[in-house]
Amino acid sequence: MSAEDKTNTAEVREDRVVTNSNGIPMNDPFATQRIGEHGPLLMQDSNLIESLAHFNRERVPERNPHAHGSGAFGYFEVTDDITDICGSAMFDTIGKRTRCLTRFSTVGGEKGSADTARDPRGFATKFYTEEGNLDWVYNNTPVFFIRDPSKFPHFIHTQKRNPRTNLKDANMFWDFLTTPENQVAIHQVTILFSDRGTPASFRKMNGYSGHTYKWSNKKGDWHYVQVHIISDQGIENFTNEEAIEMAGKNPDYCTEDLANAIERGDAPSWTVSVQVMTEEQAKKLPFSVFDLTKVWSHKDFPLRRIGKLVLNENPQNFFAQIEQAAFAPSNTVPYQEASADPVLQSRLFAYADAHRYRIGPNYNQVPVNCPYASKFFTPVMRDGPMNVDGNFGSEPNYYSTNCKYQFIQQDRPIQQHQEVWQGPAIPYHWATSAGDIDYVQPRALYQKVLAKQPGAQERLAHNVGVHVANACSGIQERVFEMFSRVDPQLGNRIREIATEKTTENKMNKL
Ligand code: NDP
Repeated sequence: MSAEDKTNTAEVREDRVVTNSNGIPMNDPFATQRIGEHGPLLMQDSNLIESLAHFNRERVPERNPHAHGSGAFGYFEVTDDITDICGSAMFDTIGKRTRCLTRFSTVGGEKGSADTARDPRGFATKFYTEEGNLDWVYNNTPVFFIRDPSKFPHFIHTQKRNPRTNLKDANMFWDFLTTPENQVAIHQVTILFSDRGTPASFRKMNGYSGHTYKWSNKKGDWHYVQVHIISDQGIENFTNEEAIEMAGKNPDYCTEDLANAIERGDAPSWTVSVQVMTEEQAKKLPFSVFDLTKVWSHKDFPLRRIGKLVLNENPQNFFAQIEQAAFAPSNTVPYQEASADPVLQSRLFAYADAHRYRIGPNYNQVPVNCPYASKFFTPVMRDGPMNVDGNFGSEPNYYSTNCKYQFIQQDRPIQQHQEVWQGPAIPYHWATSAGDIDYVQPRALYQKVLAKQPGAQERLAHNVGVHVANACSGIQERVFEMFSRVDPQLGNRIREIATEKTTENKMNKL
């Protein structure tokens, strides 16, 4: 069986005799067993009962968040030697290709929501490597809204529906983000309301690890890294109004755009690079290397190219290969490790747990999740619902000294010298930093980066202004104040636009 076959369950059979799910041939799928032509139905009609009962169970719970998404298969190809930084087998030879699956998604909306909503985009890639499956569960933004993981459910709730009205709620949205201790979000909020908040295509946006990871080479030297996946198609975004219009015209626009491009042979690709930092350099940063709300300066930590990601194969079956795809940052391979970033540490638990809930504890047996390229052997993980891969047969279900199991010693030295942690167990709330540090990077983005893109500063003000116009006046004031800390001119412009739009909204309601 080829690698493609193993992740692709859509086998088309020659002998298409229609049967029930038990393999018994069916005469007429539309006939029901009943007393006479118009009498009551019979309990013995197992075809009818089975088809209705199965229909009731067609859905697995949608993801919460990242419910809406699409994806494609492809490969990662090594273009540059990175073995001094990372010893993972997938990087060991220039030209080496590893099969992969990428899923793009929006975050806050439900499964049927629009592709073009203003929202970060998930950019998750599963690599089927010989050392097991590696998942890079990234976003299209290099930072995030929070750095205290306990705030995650609160934050996501504010982006979803009001529990009373079941409506999206600008008051909830901005109330959370402008609360002083939550203003660590300002960097991500500035990016979200910039042009990049409404990508025109999954093909034309970047992916970023956001988190700091730790990579080591085979000699045991280790570094902090951040991964950048930069679109070879360039960046293309919708304006706020174009995105809203497209949500009505074709809510699946980006899904269609990706599938069509691959179908016509125009396979999208991304250049994958890393920023690399030593422990000594990290100690000199003006912020913590584990702070997910910060980027590393390109000038101080230049991008180092490692490879190319190409998506050239559409899924054959959306449910089997995309809806059931289970990405988790805890799926990692030797020489690539999570850092102590607390949000990443929490994700190590939360993602796999979401899949146990959504798909079941044996979700790794689903072909799209199976680490088929590695010699996986986990005889202690047995039984459970929907165990379909033979359950390791007669192997003992514990590691017995009588059995000749091998525990491969990785050829890297144990990283005993890495990050020695010590201290009392304390409840620590990583709220707003003292001083201005959380505003420095969004200010650089506004004053330096956006200033060079014609109209980008005004579009940022416009995008915030028209959104916050739906919130009450007290919360609007907090938004104006927060953006004034980024740049007073930005705060003032948002105020002008929001005031005008609020009046317009009121007039429309008269
Ligand atoms: P640089 O001028 O070296 O980098 C600026 C980067 O900003 C660009 O390379 C581009 O990243 C990114 N960018 C351009 N437009 C937008 C936008 N609308 N929203 C978000 N990012 C955009 O300066 P610095 O490294 O000093 O960074 C300055 C600011 O740029 C940061 O404070 C941060 O907000 C933003 N930025 C920085 C990144 C980094 O890794 N240093 C990555 C992304 C954003 P790209 O090439 O990845 O498209």
